[in-house]
Amino acid sequence: MRFDVITIFPEIFNAYLNESILKRAAEKNIIEVKVHNLRDFTTDRHRTVDDYPYGGGPGMVMKPEPFFSAVEHIKSDGIPRRIVMLTPRGKTFSQDMALSMSGQNQNMILICGRYEAIDERVKNLVDEEISIGDYVLTGGELPALVIIDSIARLIPGVLGDERSAEEESFTCGMLEYPHYTRPPEFRGLKAPEVLLSGNHKAIAQWRRKEALRLTILRRPDLIQGIPLKDEDYKLISEIKEEGKNHEYD
Ligand code: SAM
Repeated sequence: MRFDVITIFPEIFNAYLNESILKRAAEKNIIEVKVHNLRDFTTDRHRTVDDYPYGGGPGMVMKPEPFFSAVEHIKSDGIPRRIVMLTPRGKTFSQDMALSMSGQNQNMILICGRYEAIDERVKNLVDEEISIGDYVLTGGELPALVIIDSIARLIPGVLGDERSAEEESFTCGMLEYPHYTRPPEFRGLKAPEVLLSGNHKAIAQWRRKEALRLTILRRPDLIQGIPLKDEDYKLISEIKEEGKNHEYD
């Protein structure tokens, strides 16, 4: 899957993409990320990408022409791509969206803004506007990396063990269960005995119950969307009986 990013700060991407899982994914040719400097698509001597807003007001507005030229240049190879603009007013990104985008395996162009805004006419280029949450960042580079990372790790072959992506938070509609590793006891804090028991059925049940407990306590809004099994109702009533004395409260 190929990602083309349009930004005025291409160096931001090097450090993140050249480490760990995404680096290996690129080495294995599972993903390819090409970062384009928006200033390369300007036509003036100063490589200007912004100008004062019509109508006045604070900040600068990113000019439309370089974005159009950059997108036309990227698309000139004829490969179809979904064009996404990162903006706080876009649809809020979610694990479901990452899953669907990685499943579609469609190449993407990610447009990163800076300053006060991008000229509204750039919207005519894009298929979708995406926000990564209800807060405002200084630029679209972190959102672009968030989207690349979350989609890429769901592509088969990117993670070492595919089960990691299948079991984690939001994938089953709820938060993931807690994890422990050695030592079994550290400064008086014990790992739950069941996890050391080797009893796979009991471990699976403990994990399901703790995932339900965390979701009920921290993200009750997610509960309605979970396809609950019969045994879950028993676990939920146990969780309710255990009530407020539990460590996650
Ligand atoms: N004035 C804009 C507003 O109020 O919506 C915010 C502009 S922000 C300072 C500059 C750029 O950062 C945006 O054009 C966008 O590309 C990016 N950005 C900031 N927050 C974002 C978010 N939550 N999701 C996606 N992109 C974001």
